[in-house]
Amino acid sequence: MITVIGSINMDLVVETDTFPKQGETVQGKLFTTIPGGKGANQAVAAARLGSQVRMIGAVGDDSFGIELYKKLMSENIDVSGIVKTNNSTGIANILLHNRDNRILFVPGANFDLNKEIIDANIQLIRESKLVMMQLEIPAETIEYVFTICQEHAIPVLLNPAPAANFKKEWMNQITYLTPNETECELIFGADWETVLKEYPNKVIVTLGSEGAAYYDGSKIVRIPGFKTTAVDTTGAGDTFNGAFAHAICSGKSIDDAVEFANIAASLSVEKFGAQGGMPTIDEVLARLG
Ligand code: ATP
Repeated sequence: MITVIGSINMDLVVETDTFPKQGETVQGKLFTTIPGGKGANQAVAAARLGSQVRMIGAVGDDSFGIELYKKLMSENIDVSGIVKTNNSTGIANILLHNRDNRILFVPGANFDLNKEIIDANIQLIRESKLVMMQLEIPAETIEYVFTICQEHAIPVLLNPAPAANFKKEWMNQITYLTPNETECELIFGADWETVLKEYPNKVIVTLGSEGAAYYDGSKIVRIPGFKTTAVDTTGAGDTFNGAFAHAICSGKSIDDAVEFANIAASLSVEKFGAQGGMPTIDEVLARLG
């Protein structure tokens, strides 16, 4: 059982020919609501591959909250750890113009995910094979989960996004850290090869179409990405994390888990949307060969 403790958002996406200037009103072209949040995305990625996944998170007392809750249920995710608070559901307001975007997000209920909610779900956490988190929930909650996982020897996968919320003092509480190249440099202030050597078998850096890399204690292991034509890379990182968690919990080595995650993420970039492109286990196995 994988327990994901993280954010649940609705992305409100407006496509437009021009961005409005200050004080200006502009007619947009298309409006879509897309389920998102790194926590929910990574939970969906692992569940689609066949993992048993539980999600601990918070949604608001509004229609988005109900919709997102139902969506996670429809993905066979155990939603018993999701609470409804008096806040609004987390949203990201995304303006899209060609390949450019402007994003304004409101964490809302995601920031209500506190120690009390964790305590109410402590049994779920204790029973987990792996706990997976990101940085779109309060830091105190993440730190509290670390102490529980340490006490019960439960591995923790932390995807450090957004990187600005990461604290380096967390490193010895983390089993796997999965930054992308930019996050890696931002967190550690060094190039990724230097960082990997400092944290053998712990930091797995994702390198976009180039795949991913880690240090096995004696050499840097680079696992190339699967060459494909990307139509939308949104959610590639989330798919990688969900798939990596799935593979590690299925008993694969880091090497094999990274290869599996690269394949899953390569399939996700071939379709639009974050959750929309996440593959099933059969699709991944077919490509793995
Ligand atoms: P995002 O924020 O777009 O979700 P990210 O910046 O967190 O992603 P990346 O390193 O860009 O993470 O991508 C994660 C993984 O997705 C890579 O390790 C790789 O396996 C896969 N991937 C990303 N882009 C491509 C691509 N163009 N072709 C094939 N695989 C890709």
